[in-house]
Parts: sequence; structure tokens; C-alpha cells
Amino acid sequence: MIPKSHPRYESLRTRNLIVNGIKEGITSLHGLIAHGRGEAFDYLLGEKTSEFAEKSIGAGAALLITAKNPVISVNGNSAVLVPNELAEISHLLSAPFEINIFHASKKREIKIKNHLIKNGAENVLLPDKRFKIRHLQSNRKYVNKNGILKADVVFVPLEDGDRTEALVRNRKKVIAVDINPLSRTARKATVTIVDNITRAMPLLIKTIKQYKKHDNKRLQKMAKGHDNRKNLKGSLNYMLQNFP
Ligand code: ATP
Repeated sequence: MIPKSHPRYESLRTRNLIVNGIKEGITSLHGLIAHGRGEAFDYLLGEKTSEFAEKSIGAGAALLITAKNPVISVNGNSAVLVPNELAEISHLLSAPFEINIFHASKKREIKIKNHLIKNGAENVLLPDKRFKIRHLQSNRKYVNKNGILKADVVFVPLEDGDRTEALVRNRKKVIAVDINPLSRTARKATVTIVDNITRAMPLLIKTIKQYKKHDNKRLQKMAKGHDNRKNLKGSLNYMLQNFP
């Protein structure tokens, strides 16, 4: 048990989630490396959500609410870090989940699915070898026809650059959460939320609830007005200036 008063309580809590995820066969060992890289960038953010992340959370919420067929694409890290929050977003948007992992394993896909369901998810799709997106060589090209194949907006919390790029080339709008503003995912996505996923998800839920009261035209304008490159530059400058 980590005492809540520990100065690195939140960091230790999330490390434990990833380590337990590996023990339970939900997260891959490579997920540890990705998480470590994320932690390093969180230091640069001062472990706080910046105004730039808040802006992209707004644009992401607007894009998700106005989507015709939004889908939430999940991997082992996002499934163990924020399963309840993702389930709530899925309900708010009536959006299905689709499991998509780099290190192909049916067994792990099922474990991720069961973990999401245990945490409140309902509609969880798996990739189907009969359907694939273009411009991607790895097994991650396989998709579900009721999920990513027909999606216009794909929410990919924690993603790799290749797949983000391929989704965009398949004419999908992509919303990513990536605390590294220099990653290829961050640069290729339509909207990148540069923040720790554990802080960004509760804010995204709050924003979706608020924005659902707005009309679609206003939301579409907000989403269109988002300049991702400018936002990434702002996030990076924020990190560089954050040193006390
Ligand atoms: P690229 O997008 O450049 O191809 P990559 O494929 O090497 O990057 P991964 O190793 O798949 O990236 O890691 C995914 C990304 O997620 C990393 O950029 C990492 O900084 C980020 N990340 C890891 N943990 C978190 C977290 N808790 N919140 C937000 N982002 C995170």
C-alpha cells in the first residue's frame, strides 16, 4: 500500500497499474518502456495539465460529439490506466471500443476486453482479419467492420506514430493523448492532447458533458478552428519554460 501522503503517490500508483496489468496479461512488457517515456515528459510538464492541453481537450470533445461514428481504440496501457473513464466516455458518446495492440495476441485482446467490461464497458469489438485499413503493414491494419472500418473519428489514447498516420491517410480524424509533443503520433493526429492520460480523461469527461449542451454547428466550428501544430509548439514551449 502506498501512503497517499507520499510525494510521488500518483506516479507510484500508475506504475503499479501498469505492473499489475503485465502480471494479469493485459499490458505488454513493452508497455513499461512507453510508460517510462511518458513519465519523463510529465516531469517537464510539472505534472500539471497545461492550458494547451485544456484547449485540445475542448477541440477533441467537440470532434467526438459531432462525429457520426466515433470509436475508442484501446491498447494494454490505456486499458489498465483509465478503464472506468474510458467506459464513461464510451457511454456518453455511444461509441464502441475496439481493441488494437501492436504485439498481436488473441489471448491478450480477450483479456483487455474482459478488463474493460469489468470496469463498465459494454460494446467492445475485436479486430477481424477479413477487414483492414490501407497504408499499414503491421497486424494493426486489421479492423472491425462495425468499428474502425466505418469510423469517421477515432480516439486513440496512447498510440504509435505509424498507426496514427495510417488512420489519417484512411481519411479518419484522429484524437490522440500523447504527453510527448515531439512524437510522430502527436504530430500526425488531428487533435493531440499533450497531457498524462490519467489527468486528461476526467477533464475530457467533464468537457463532453458540458459541450453536449451546445449545438452541432458551434462544436464543428470549434473543432475546425483547432490548430494542432500551434498547440504542439505551445505545449513544447510550456515545458521548456516550466523550469522554476
Ligand atoms: P511515435 O508516436 O513517435 O511512433 P512510439 O510509437 O515510439 O512513438 P510508444 O512507445 O508506443 O510511442 O509510446 C506511446 C507514447 O505514449 C509515447 O510518446 C509516450 O510518451 C506516451 N505516453 C506514455 N504514457 C503516457 C501517459 N500516461 N499519458 C500520456 N502519454 C503517455
